[in-house]
Amino acid sequence: MILVLIEHADNKVKKAGLEALTIAKQLAVKTSSEVGAIVIGSIEDPESLGNYGADQCFLIDHPNLQQFDTSNYTQVVAQIAKDKGADIVILSHTSKGKALVGRLAIKLESDVLSGVSQFVGVEDGTLLLKKPVFAGKGIASFKLNAKKAVFTLLGNAVQPQTFDGSCTVITREVSVAPPREKVVKVDRATGEVPLPEAEIVVSAGRGMKGPENWGIIEDLAKELGATTACSRPVADMDWRPHHEHVGQTGIAISPNLYIAAGISGAIQHLAGVNSSKNIVVINKDPEAPFFKAADYGVVGDLFEVVPRLTEAIRKFKNNQ
Ligand SMILES: Cc1cc2nc3c(=O)[nH]c(=O)nc-3n(C[C@H](O)[C@H](O)[C@H](O)COP(=O)(O)OP(=O)(O)OC[C@H]3O[C@@H](n4cnc5c(N)ncnc54)[C@H](O)[C@@H]3O)c2cc1C
Repeated sequence: MILVLIEHADNKVKKAGLEALTIAKQLAVKTSSEVGAIVIGSIEDPESLGNYGADQCFLIDHPNLQQFDTSNYTQVVAQIAKDKGADIVILSHTSKGKALVGRLAIKLESDVLSGVSQFVGVEDGTLLLKKPVFAGKGIASFKLNAKKAVFTLLGNAVQPQTFDGSCTVITREVSVAPPREKVVKVDRATGEVPLPEAEIVVSAGRGMKGPENWGIIEDLAKELGATTACSRPVADMDWRPHHEHVGQTGIAISPNLYIAAGISGAIQHLAGVNSSKNIVVINKDPEAPFFKAADYGVVGDLFEVVPRLTEAIRKFKNNQ
């Protein structure tokens, strides 16, 4: 069996969870095995996971699991993996997945890989996977034991696929200790699609000159249905909130489209955005390093280019 830990929030499965299921299904087809979805907590309509490739859904709800705790979550996932004799466990490359992957691999004595971007195939008992390395400058190939592996899958690495399937829901009782950490307060970003799940991101940097100018970035984002992001200095100077900061020390994203205005493209910034499918850079300096990583580049003043781009998109949408 191939197990997937399903990420969810507000009783709804996150896109990251469906992406992990899609990869699990692709793997299951190659290895003639089944897919098991693990849901810790509760979601609406768990049977619907069958439409995304799950054959079985293990529902585990316990008061001591309401708060994320690495020891407890590892214990629960490892127990199901052992009971089911699972070959592979897939996690999403989120803060939870990253916290669990190493512990789980130790508990299951399995091979481990973090931040997978592509499932290549299964060959002679080995699982062939790829992931970006050196801040996204290269893609490395890895071979893991196909009978004992745990890995995390990068967000937006695949598009969730639907299948004609059904899923058996199994409620499991567990015994877990109270979490060791106490969460005092949770502040959730509201409104737009969270950055790790966003398909389109409009981002800006120090070239914006000040927080009062961000209206043009928000207009463009609104027109495209995009989420906004920023470089680190911008968040450090409190021009934008810290949850928008992308890069090595911020959030790593891989949207289908990343538009960067007034960002130089320092290696630490690229580390978090380099696996975006299409990168558009707007910068007045033709020598800005970001152009080397760009699919499309506009050399120009962002205060002219961004509003014109927004207007062009608006006109295009109106003519559809
Ligand atoms: C340990 C460490 C970790 C770091 N982690 C991160 C990280 O996670 N994320 C991150 O972003 N940075 C990070 N940094 C900082 C990083 O090195 C850069 O300093 C930072 O990314 C630069 O931000 P910027 O591009 O917004 O600003 P700048 O480097 O100042 O670039 C501004 C750009 O805007 C352009 N510009 C100016 N005016 C206009 C205009 N009118 N029109 C068009 N273009 C214009 C300029 O040509 C320039 O290229 C880290 C640094 C260190 C040392």
